[in-house]
Amino acid sequence: MAERQRVLITVKTYPLPSEKYLELVCTAGMLEDGSFIRLYPVDYRYQPYWRWYSKYQWIEVEVEKHDKDPRKESYRPRVETIQVLGKPLDTANCWAARKAIVLKQLPASMETLRELQERDGTSLGLVKPREVTDLIIEPDSEEWKLKWKADIEQLRLFGPDRKPLEKVPFKFRYCFTCEDERCKGHTMMIEDWEVGQLYWNQLKRLGNAEKAAESVRKKFLGELCRADKDTHFFVGTVLKYRTWIVLGVFWPPKEGTVKARTPRPSATPSLFDT
Ligand SMILES: [Zn+2]
Repeated sequence: MAERQRVLITVKTYPLPSEKYLELVCTAGMLEDGSFIRLYPVDYRYQPYWRWYSKYQWIEVEVEKHDKDPRKESYRPRVETIQVLGKPLDTANCWAARKAIVLKQLPASMETLRELQERDGTSLGLVKPREVTDLIIEPDSEEWKLKWKADIEQLRLFGPDRKPLEKVPFKFRYCFTCEDERCKGHTMMIEDWEVGQLYWNQLKRLGNAEKAAESVRKKFLGELCRADKDTHFFVGTVLKYRTWIVLGVFWPPKEGTVKARTPRPSATPSLFDT
């Protein structure tokens, strides 16, 4: 049975090729009570522009519990019913409007999330790292895996016009610890769409793949995880492998740190806010 839900989008992953849907984006967000919902699949870039939504934007959409995806929070959206409501929530007052929803979810440790995963199929969570120790860059294949390449080729020949979907030739992983006495540290892949976007923008600007990857590190480690940020990770599982990955970063300034840096008002939207 379909129900209409109001969702604050908090996560969009880099698109993956798909035979059936052209390409897939994992979108997740929160309901008004702060509980998580995953909207899957969404062929985001192939939807008309008025159905495009940004992070921290409210949408309304009809959803049905996903029949083939046992993860607790997964719902199949009827993409044709997506309605985007107003502008994305801004970052004024240390992200007050965003925090009012996102922080209704109590941060958990990865250890607790794994327990919940076994117990009730939990597959999304908010983690507040105790310390983010590194962001590892690892060269990866420049091509999509063979099965996906075959799908792309098939669609190129017989399907509708495809938008270019390039494979990022690096893997990026966060190394962090959480507030849990059982914690031995984690190394987790980052699948945020913004990582890919930033990589391509920087490649265009710098003309060098390694330098572009290094600017991703600079932004996602040096800025988003800096000591004056109250950094949280949105984490989620991969359906096929049940492993946890970082889906996105929530990085409001720590309250009290903004006043010290008077020349820059906290309301200044950055490249990453929409
Ligand atoms: Zn841990």
